[in-house]
Amino acid sequence: MRDIKNLTRENLEEVCRSRGVPVFHAQQLFEWIYRKRVNDFSLMPNVPVKFREYLKTVFYFSQMDVLKKEVSTDGTVKFLMGLPGGLAVESVLIPEKKRRTLCVSTQAGCKFGCKFCVSGLDGFKRNLTPGEITGQLLAVEKDTGEKVTNIVFMGVGEPLDNFENLMVSIAIFMDNRGFEIGKRKIVISTCGFVPGIDLLAARGAGLRISVSLHSADDKKRSEIMPVNKKYDTGKLMKALKKFYEKEKFAVTFEYVLISGFNSSEKDAAALSMYVKGVPHKLNIIPYNSSDYFQWKAPTGEEIGAFVEILKTRGVFYTIRRPRGRDISAACGQLKAKITS
Ligand code: SF4
Repeated sequence: MRDIKNLTRENLEEVCRSRGVPVFHAQQLFEWIYRKRVNDFSLMPNVPVKFREYLKTVFYFSQMDVLKKEVSTDGTVKFLMGLPGGLAVESVLIPEKKRRTLCVSTQAGCKFGCKFCVSGLDGFKRNLTPGEITGQLLAVEKDTGEKVTNIVFMGVGEPLDNFENLMVSIAIFMDNRGFEIGKRKIVISTCGFVPGIDLLAARGAGLRISVSLHSADDKKRSEIMPVNKKYDTGKLMKALKKFYEKEKFAVTFEYVLISGFNSSEKDAAALSMYVKGVPHKLNIIPYNSSDYFQWKAPTGEEIGAFVEILKTRGVFYTIRRPRGRDISAACGQLKAKITS
């Protein structure tokens, strides 16, 4: 049996064709699943009975369940979602004025082992399926009763390391017979996994990316992000330039500012020079202290001195205040296990 939620509408049309059924039934199936949220073929009366009988023999409906929910004082909500086999992932809902952004996970655990992130502490377990990725949104909307407007692939895992499943889930998120989330409202966050950036550029999907940079100095970056040992800042910039040439979207750089590690004048100067290599946006994110690591959150003075150098070097930036800090829902704090 296969999960029907791993299929795009085009895939469902192929199923229709293979059974000699008109393809508009794929559209109806899609609407039943993603608009009316029906998980039972018997309750889809406009789909031919014989076709439904066939579908029942080959497909099932996966469902993500919310195991735990925590609400931050700033309104951010963290959901722990169960996966088959006792695994779990976290998703975070960030409500802002008109926007409701969902940060989704793409892998159970992570193999990239960034030294400020708890997601990879227990190692990599497996890739999430498209049904498990989109299922996070279905579960959150069911729980809250409110529509998610934006998606950021910034939860547990490296999205570009689960490329095909990521692409299928995005096709489902964007489908105008389903969630109808525009591509401008979707952001893929990467640790700088160059083969994935190259694939995305080659695909020409018109999607935006956000790169976790955290240091423009190779020695420091490799210390905190092992991915840099293989794909250093030079290779990363080459891939980003290629991506920009193809997509013409500014790349967003994320820089987690860690006290005494990447917060010096020299670090700010190196960052200024590096980001100018490609049209960009820059987010400075003061580090979230964690019981798991020795890194320290920067003081207000440190942040001020750092951004002053960016300013004098003509680099525009935004300081992003971490959301959901009190419930460990901020950047680098998400886990992939059931016990807290
Ligand atoms: S920051 Fe992203 S890539 Fe790095 S360990 Fe955490 S989840 Fe993995």
